[in-house]
Amino acid sequence: MSPEQSPLNDRLANVNKRIQAACDRVGRSPDDVTLVAVSKTWPLTDLQAAVAAGVTDLGENYVQEAVDKVQQWQGPAPVWHFIGPLQSNKTRPVAEHFDWVHSIDRLKIAQRLADQRPDHLPPLNVCIQINISQDPAKAGIAAEALPSFADQIRALPRLRLGGIMAITAADLNESELRRQFKELKSLSDTLIQQHPDATVLSMGMSADFEVAIECGATHVRVGSAIFGQRHYAE
Ligand SMILES: *Cc1c(COP(=O)(O)O)cnc(C)c1O
Repeated sequence: MSPEQSPLNDRLANVNKRIQAACDRVGRSPDDVTLVAVSKTWPLTDLQAAVAAGVTDLGENYVQEAVDKVQQWQGPAPVWHFIGPLQSNKTRPVAEHFDWVHSIDRLKIAQRLADQRPDHLPPLNVCIQINISQDPAKAGIAAEALPSFADQIRALPRLRLGGIMAITAADLNESELRRQFKELKSLSDTLIQQHPDATVLSMGMSADFEVAIECGATHVRVGSAIFGQRHYAE
């Protein structure tokens, strides 16, 4: 099978087509939507195949796996996004190796990233994670806390506030999903009035990225629709 016919290329082409169609439905340009290909659990060869096929941004969740991949990368580097939960004792390798962190929901983590961001690198781009389902078991800050938390993040050196991120629950019906995505869009619009550069709205995954785009997502984080079903090691 030639690389052009590999399933990964087919799946990626299909995702890009669906992004285009979702943009068309609401009069947006696909240039305004960044596809972050979420490559957790997949080997470096798959990441390289995705980049060879046109992926510009890769997302990873697990610090050790993620940093190994960044360090082993050869050739022109993609934009690396850290999108998983981050513990305070694991911030340094993320500060040293990533371009973006999407999952900021504690000031202490942000302060450590700011302290640990090497001087020779540009500021680390960060998104504030919103707990849009108001589920105490889920990561993210409450929507009401966004304005003051954004001010605190903005005051830290070596970080650049990029916008907001959210993970919606997997079991929502479409009208509730749309309601949550629209609420996130409205939070994003309000944040932009306060911080004009914080334009990122990172929402939507394999199951719902088209709805997310229709509701205003600027970054969609798509894993299995590109790489296939994940198999987690025990
Ligand atoms: C795994 C993951 C994704 C991608 O999930 P898929 O359903 O495979 O597209 C997106 N965002 C976050 C935060 C993730 O952990």
